Amino acid sequence: MDIITILKKYPLCHRCFGRLYAKLLHTSNYERGKSLKIAKAIELESKLLNLMGKYNELTESGNPDEIEKTDTEKLKIASEITEIKGQLKYIYKSGLTEIKLVDIPEEINEEEGENKLDLCPWCKNIFDKENLEIISEKVIDLLKDYEYETFLAGTMLPKEIKELEKEFETPYMESIKQEFNRIMGKILVEKTGKTVDKNSPDIVIMINPYNKKIKLQINSIFIKGRYRKLVRGIPQTRWPCRYCRGKGCEKCNYTGKQYPTSVEEIIAEPFMKVFKGKDEAFHGAGREDIDVRMLGNGRPFVLQIKEPKIRKADLEKLKEEVNKSGKVEILNLDYGVRKDVVFFKNEPHKKTYLAVVECEEDVYDDEILKLVEKLENLTINQRTPIRVSHRRADLVRVRKVYKACANRIDSKTFELTLYCDGGLYIKELISGDEGRTSPSVSEILNKKCICKTLDVLDVHDMENYEEN
Ligand SMILES: [Zn+2]
Ligand SMILES: [Zn+2]
Repeated sequence: MDIITILKKYPLCHRCFGRLYAKLLHTSNYERGKSLKIAKAIELESKLLNLMGKYNELTESGNPDEIEKTDTEKLKIASEITEIKGQLKYIYKSGLTEIKLVDIPEEINEEEGENKLDLCPWCKNIFDKENLEIISEKVIDLLKDYEYETFLAGTMLPKEIKELEKEFETPYMESIKQEFNRIMGKILVEKTGKTVDKNSPDIVIMINPYNKKIKLQINSIFIKGRYRKLVRGIPQTRWPCRYCRGKGCEKCNYTGKQYPTSVEEIIAEPFMKVFKGKDEAFHGAGREDIDVRMLGNGRPFVLQIKEPKIRKADLEKLKEEVNKSGKVEILNLDYGVRKDVVFFKNEPHKKTYLAVVECEEDVYDDEILKLVEKLENLTINQRTPIRVSHRRADLVRVRKVYKACANRIDSKTFELTLYCDGGLYIKELISGDEGRTSPSVSEILNKKCICKTLDVLDVHDMENYEEN
């Protein structure tokens, strides 16, 4: 759209007009907008001056013989003058009042008198000092409850402004969002002394500068570490009551939970208290069954604390607090990032297990010896176990056992230590799961066996994993 066409339709202020050409010249939007208008006005004013001169000349040197010819010419010039005056009207209406090379048509002077400048339809004066002050003070007030080091200011535009922008969009314009973000960011840096972080700010401040509504998005903090589960009978994560699905009912004593506690709750409780979070999420690198202990170097986890008011605390102290529980221990604590969660979910780590195997009949030393020999470097075909088939797709997984060793306990029972791929179901590796896992300990011994107890001794994740 040409300058006049735009201004005729929308009396944009200098700043907004300059924003249409933001990427063409490095200066402020205001400066650019005003300059463009001035340049155009000068061009039109000089044309006007020229035409006025010609008109006057014709009037003065009126040759009676050519009166008809002169009148036609005068008429033509007059209409050109009207046209240019009309164009100039729109430029002046958009806030340019300083230059007056020739008299401005009276009607415009009048309009200027009563209403200097129409409210700019794009910015609606959101960049006014007062408006910026009100908004920034409101933000500061909302932020006072939170500890943070970095922030990012974002702008939400009303629908009608978004639509307006689309209408006069140019490839080199800047959205009003970008300009407001920049200006508000600068004001907030000055007022708070904090820094802007575009990638992972502690807090994102979303501002609608038109109605002055502000929303804070407090980003989560992530604490990574490893946990040991020292007792059987507690699930890894909060487990909603299967009757009421967490609402609370008679069966669950109105706790909404199937189990009174979990690894998640034991760890999260002291953290939530200190970091004053609104909610939390527990991400483990895999999970063990409720009746399985997690020992050794522990299982990696990330505790996500949502909308925390505090972002830094003494992790060592929190560790001690959790370890006092006697049920769960945590170690290697550190602050993490969101990416750590994804990493966990995608890495099936090799593991070392200790299983107590119980046979229906007596089992002899040479049988156990043969079993161990057979298990080493053995490939297992495992169809989804019956006990998890309601929530996992039914398919055959191929997993490997790398190392095995055994220790007799009594005539029917022995301990079996296994170093194997992550994702291998150990209980089924022992029982055979009615033929769904093959080969299995039951199959190799040709005796019915069950896994009496199971512990995870090690999770071999990237850090301490060594092929040996
Ligand atoms: Zn404007
Ligand atoms: Zn319930």
